[in-house]
Amino acid sequence: MGLVQTVKAGCSYLASCVKSLPEDSLENFYINRFGRVLYSMFFQSYTQKLWGRSPKDISPDWGAQRVKGLSIRALLKDCLSKMLPHGKNRDVETSLIEEFLYPKYGPGQLWELAAAEIVERGGKIVRGAGVDEILCRDNMVCGVGFVRGDKSREKLGADILLSSMPLTDLLDSMGKTVPEHIKTVARGLPYRDFVTVGVLVEELALRNNTRIPTLNRLVPDCWIYVQDAGIKMGRIQIFNNWSPYMVSDAEHKVWIGLEYFCDEGDPYWNLPDDQWAGLASKELVQMGVLESGKAVLDFHVEKVKKAYPAYFDTYKDIPTLRTWLDGFENLYCIGRNGQHRYNNMDHSMATAMEAVANIISGKKTKENVWGVNTEKEYHEQGRSGALSGEYKMNT
Ligand SMILES: Cc1cc2nc3c(=O)[nH]c(=O)nc-3n(C[C@H](O)[C@H](O)[C@H](O)COP(=O)(O)OP(=O)(O)OC[C@H]3O[C@@H](n4cnc5c(N)ncnc54)[C@H](O)[C@@H]3O)c2cc1C
Repeated sequence: MGLVQTVKAGCSYLASCVKSLPEDSLENFYINRFGRVLYSMFFQSYTQKLWGRSPKDISPDWGAQRVKGLSIRALLKDCLSKMLPHGKNRDVETSLIEEFLYPKYGPGQLWELAAAEIVERGGKIVRGAGVDEILCRDNMVCGVGFVRGDKSREKLGADILLSSMPLTDLLDSMGKTVPEHIKTVARGLPYRDFVTVGVLVEELALRNNTRIPTLNRLVPDCWIYVQDAGIKMGRIQIFNNWSPYMVSDAEHKVWIGLEYFCDEGDPYWNLPDDQWAGLASKELVQMGVLESGKAVLDFHVEKVKKAYPAYFDTYKDIPTLRTWLDGFENLYCIGRNGQHRYNNMDHSMATAMEAVANIISGKKTKENVWGVNTEKEYHEQGRSGALSGEYKMNT
């Protein structure tokens, strides 16, 4: 940052400590915690890229969930505690955690195992099918209608429905049962869609100048955030560092994932795969992550609709939706899009665990299911105690 910029950032941070802004937007949420200079360097254009909206127009709730207790004070505390002999900040903020336990072949392994266990215990899983009809009678869900990959339609009776499909789609599938004002809220819920471009290269132009040992001197990061407003890419993932077992020749090749945020149907979303790979390579060279002229050995593009539930438009009316949905005693809304909340995987799992605990115990209210990840202060490593049921998790 250089001395001048550092002094400017320090002064603007102190100014924000002296006079807080009303916390009525994501912009003010960030400025109160980091000062205007650091906000404009690190958060303003990244947030605009991620959501396609100015942070002025986004609810501060998203900051409370994503950034949690991270602030300059928390950063300084973390740095100081690391300087102490044997110093490790035990209460480290979620955003500052430096070590993860990670499945050898990626997080999908967890769900492959869960699916195998469901089948082993006599459960049936219908794959490659889309639910587009929720059958209801007298404020109870009694079944679902779904379409298989070959376009054939089927119906299935249900005693209990746990829904992790996007709230917009859930309410759309409930048809005529849904009153007009609820439909309006559901259809107005915003989402951000996501394109990830995997690129296989022999090496990166970045060098590992840290003391962290890595295979082939690869730079040790798992994620690199791209704040630069002139670059469309939002984040770089280095899959070799998540787990070298996910890369077939990790000693000589690097798989990186370039993340782009779009809206379904916009000109970027519709780009053919080879043009996505071209854009990604061009931006990597522009940033100095790849050397110009170095060959891209392979690429792969994945498009994910509704990857991010967003916090604007009718988001503020979710309590109305929730109250209406809770009128269906045997319906539980769980997960990330299922609750339209920016939940990580642990929180998404926790909502399901809470729902199951209610079903087993016969508890009728769903406060605990909707209440996961609504606490402002959150410590990932110590959160198991926050679960109300007997289900505990180690994150
Ligand atoms: C780019 C990115 C990076 C992330 N990184 C992390 C991370 O590092 N750590 C972390 O903890 N979390 C991370 N997350 C968040 C994590 O992926 C989610 O919290 C988690 O996957 C949510 O689980 P879920 O079961 O609610 O939803 P999903 O995993 O989205 O599962 C819902 C499933 O339902 C299916 N579905 C939807 N509608 C229907 C329908 N009508 N009929 C049938 N099936 C349907 C979908 O196809 C999907 O398979 C990340 C998310 C993204 C997008």
